[in-house]
Amino acid sequence: MASYIHTDNGYFVGKLDRGDDLLEALTDVARENGIRLGQVKAIGALEKACIAYYDQTTKTYNYLDLSGGHEILNLTGNISRKDGEPMVHAHVTLSDEEGRAFGGHLGKGSVVFACEFWIQPWIGPDLVRGFDEDTGLPLWEFQEPE
Ligand code: ZN
Repeated sequence: MASYIHTDNGYFVGKLDRGDDLLEALTDVARENGIRLGQVKAIGALEKACIAYYDQTTKTYNYLDLSGGHEILNLTGNISRKDGEPMVHAHVTLSDEEGRAFGGHLGKGSVVFACEFWIQPWIGPDLVRGFDEDTGLPLWEFQEPE
């Protein structure tokens, strides 16, 4: 579960508990606070990681489960709407015990060891995700200019 403060300039800054699912816990913060649009960043460490690579030919995510501890060197993501709910889309750069870095699209199943995050809500119209035929991904939908 997340513990956080709400800063005077509108950020949510806090930490996640050991054992939290990283993606789900960040999504919970967005849901609890009605954040419809924004950015999320985090650093910390994972007990295990689940990251994905999107295969552009087969249009499927290939998930990679990494056991053992890894540093979260950087998590960068955004919050928008999908199916009427907040969706956190995040990518992570992780490192292993020898400082080697790698990363990918953050999947469910990444277990927090320790994590500090900050979320900046953006104020404005909703950005909604919908299925994009060309890529097979749930991309942001924009009205075509008339
Ligand atoms: Zn992604």
